[in-house]
Amino acid sequence: MKVTFCDESIILNVLFVSSEVFPLIKTGGLADVSGSLPYALSKLGVNIRILIPGYPSVLAQLKNLNTIATINNLSNNLSVTLLMGDMPATSANSSVKVIIIQCAALYERDGGPYADAFNKEWPDNALRFGVLSKVAAILSSEQSPIQNWRPDIVHCNDWQTGLTPAYLKLNPTPHNKAVKSIISLHNMAFQGCFPADWVEILGLSQAHFNIEGFEYHGQLSFLKAGIYYADAITTVSSSYAKEIQSSAFGFGLEGLLTIRSAEIKGILNGIETNEWNPEHDPYLIKNYCSAKLAGKKQVKKSLQQLLRLRIDANAPLLGIVSRLTHQKGLDLLLPNVQVLLDAGCQFVLLGSGESSLESAFQDIALKNPTQFSVTIGYNEPLSHQIMAGSDMFIMPSRFEPCGLNQLYGLAYGTPPIVNATGGLADSVIDSNASNIKDRIADGFVMSETTTGGLLSTILRALAIFNGDKKTWQQIQKNGMKKPLSWDKSAREYLTVYQDLLD
Ligand code: ADP
Repeated sequence: MKVTFCDESIILNVLFVSSEVFPLIKTGGLADVSGSLPYALSKLGVNIRILIPGYPSVLAQLKNLNTIATINNLSNNLSVTLLMGDMPATSANSSVKVIIIQCAALYERDGGPYADAFNKEWPDNALRFGVLSKVAAILSSEQSPIQNWRPDIVHCNDWQTGLTPAYLKLNPTPHNKAVKSIISLHNMAFQGCFPADWVEILGLSQAHFNIEGFEYHGQLSFLKAGIYYADAITTVSSSYAKEIQSSAFGFGLEGLLTIRSAEIKGILNGIETNEWNPEHDPYLIKNYCSAKLAGKKQVKKSLQQLLRLRIDANAPLLGIVSRLTHQKGLDLLLPNVQVLLDAGCQFVLLGSGESSLESAFQDIALKNPTQFSVTIGYNEPLSHQIMAGSDMFIMPSRFEPCGLNQLYGLAYGTPPIVNATGGLADSVIDSNASNIKDRIADGFVMSETTTGGLLSTILRALAIFNGDKKTWQQIQKNGMKKPLSWDKSAREYLTVYQDLLD
């Protein structure tokens, strides 16, 4: 065994496999995690390499790539080239090596990583992510074309990488047996289920296409494969680790997750404190910190100006940056928006998703242009400006594995208003009288997932914001001082690796 952490002369090798990594490609929180956790682990002495498909934006952002190998005879007779380089110098992961799977037929297309420009899923996603999973397994096996580096751990993320543990477990070789696999579950709602024909195309054995394997209601389930065959399972908060073992949150896989309960560990995500820090965020007109909050007022004013809201330092400004889907619970806001507008609130919303939600919010904005701003789309700079310029941040998610925006809200002195679920419950401390007295309150937690529950929680926040500035500032500062970096979480991942290899 060549693994130890106290004696740094012996290094742990980890292959971190992800379908999105910030800043190379991002659709949500998975990219943020993959964009910062590997570096946090590398700071702990782990020799980590990221494996990612070569989408156009990945190839465009990485310079000085070296061809390190070719792999032939993958599913559908595909060949891929493996390129290696360093993450962009500007990113948190800059000293981490990244291996790119170059295959124009699979990955080099306009649109997003999972869907085209019209949000229609790519019809060959099973092949695209089957190849990603297979390449990760090959690099972890004796067939690896990379001779001088082999992982001890392959760390998979979400359904897109779910077949890797299956390929490893079902093709044991002396070395494969030694390589341990972990799957991190970032969202159980996305499972990667495909018609049964893909079993053969992806080189999987029909013998395991059943309940004790990767079959799920007659389909091939990538996520079930990952959960079934991985040596360890992590998810992104302790509450979510428990929730997914119930029918309300397990999306049909709660039975399997309950069976594997002992191997599931919840580790709350950290945030990339270089990227998300109001003290030196380059997207802000003025930087600020907990000791000097004045700059936040200037950011609010410039945000109001930018989005043509009425310029008013006293108007409570409520921010939203989100995918507009049922999960995120923003429909709970709609019936009460008028009450809040009448109370003088302003809203800034950035996001995209279900067209019914997009148009409901756009309608409100059309009728109330100086109080309600809606930007449909993805906009990284604006998301930072909203986080800093808003007075409070709304996140009434029906379920939230971890959630990152509430963590950004805490760091930016923008107290989050959240539902009591998953990582939201684990990261936000409600501003009730006792928590305020103990000086630990840093946000507002709903007591029920209803429109009334959201409204009453917002009204609680408004009462303090409008009526008790001193307490409000204390709440802001409690959040800003909270340790949110990756250091603690990375150490917990390291313990999971260590336990697996011991
Ligand atoms: P999820 O991954 O479920 O979408 P998270 O809160 O975990 O939710 O992470 C979402 C990430 O995506 C955050 O970094 C958030 O700022 C970002 N994000 C979401 N929507 C947008 C958008 N429209 N523009 C810019 N960033 C966005």
